[in-house]
Amino acid sequence: MDAKIVLLPGDGIGPEVVAEAVRVLEAVAAKFGHKFAFTSCPMGGNAIDTHGNPLPDETLAACRKADAVLLGAVGGPKWDDPAAKTRPEVGLLKIRKELGLFANLRPIKPSAHLLDASPLKREILEGTDILFFRELTGGVYFGESGRKPHPSGEEAWSVMIYSTGEIERIVRLAATAARGRRGKLTMVDKANVLEVSRLWRSVTARVMKEEFPDIKYDTVLVDAMAMHLLSRPRDFDVVVTENLFGDILTDEGSMLTGSMGLLPSASLGEPGPGLYEPIHGSAPDIAGKGIANPLATILAAAMLLRHSLKLEQEATTIETAVETVLQQGARTADIAAGKPSIATRAMGDLVLRQL
Ligand code: NAD
Repeated sequence: MDAKIVLLPGDGIGPEVVAEAVRVLEAVAAKFGHKFAFTSCPMGGNAIDTHGNPLPDETLAACRKADAVLLGAVGGPKWDDPAAKTRPEVGLLKIRKELGLFANLRPIKPSAHLLDASPLKREILEGTDILFFRELTGGVYFGESGRKPHPSGEEAWSVMIYSTGEIERIVRLAATAARGRRGKLTMVDKANVLEVSRLWRSVTARVMKEEFPDIKYDTVLVDAMAMHLLSRPRDFDVVVTENLFGDILTDEGSMLTGSMGLLPSASLGEPGPGLYEPIHGSAPDIAGKGIANPLATILAAAMLLRHSLKLEQEATTIETAVETVLQQGARTADIAAGKPSIATRAMGDLVLRQL
């Protein structure tokens, strides 16, 4: 396969962790006989410095033409001035909107070799393997909002709004993913209170009945889901939900693994390329020291191969290599619990050796 991959290394530790993911992708290409062409483009704080714009037009144009995009992280104290004309995060929101990235995928699969890094008990966590689908471009974050005077001061509103089409497209993606996994889909809503959730419930039920009769489907209220994630996480396979609920539940879910340095995510749209990134930020406190954990970005590269290039075997090969180095005891400082640790590059080397 020939594939064009745009790299947006970004700021802080972004370039350090993206460099390791690129080495891994190059090794996979050599091993399986593929050709990946990488183009690196400015985005985030560095792009504000060089172009006055966190997402320069040329960067966006390159992304549109790519098969997939791999992002490090953006932001840092240098660009935090609230009075500044623009901010690195503006680039993030813009690229999601411009590429139509409506589905955010977050796998929550604690490594069997790091179960003690989680605040939860080992016996609750063991066997957990959840794939979250969070709707990313609709709901209360994008609905009408405003304020007006009120006898007590002011009143404010933010409208949660979804259309049938917005629900159908993400439910189809999530149900298709469930087909390739354990065949179960859970839809999370608040249908006992919210009209918008009742639309999610009726649309999802119809899509599942007509198009995915082979998938086991159930619904859970969001408040109950917040508890189930901590008490019986291994009961869930694929979970689909709207933007606000997904924002909160995926952060709760990420704590099951105990470390941000290990979690990848993907944002998918249609028909544009998918965007893949670690869930952590630019970690300015450790940037430039060569000690960042590159595994989340390496695992994001595995998701890129699986979801954008449909290279399942290659993706699994990377995931297995990461599990093996963890099993062998390799730890960067963030997951070493005070014990001896290795540098970013050394962790990359170990993954490469497994490949
Ligand atoms: P952060 O995720 O950058 O860091 C939180 C803590 O986790 C820090 O102590 C950091 O050292 C550690 N950490 C994060 N990733 C690590 C890794 N790979 N290896 C080892 N340790 C790691 O969050 P923050 O400090 O709240 O934010 C820093 C900057 O990143 C801010 O400017 C923020 O806006 C930005 N940010 C960007 C994104 C993104 O680009 N998608 C996401 C979140 C935050």
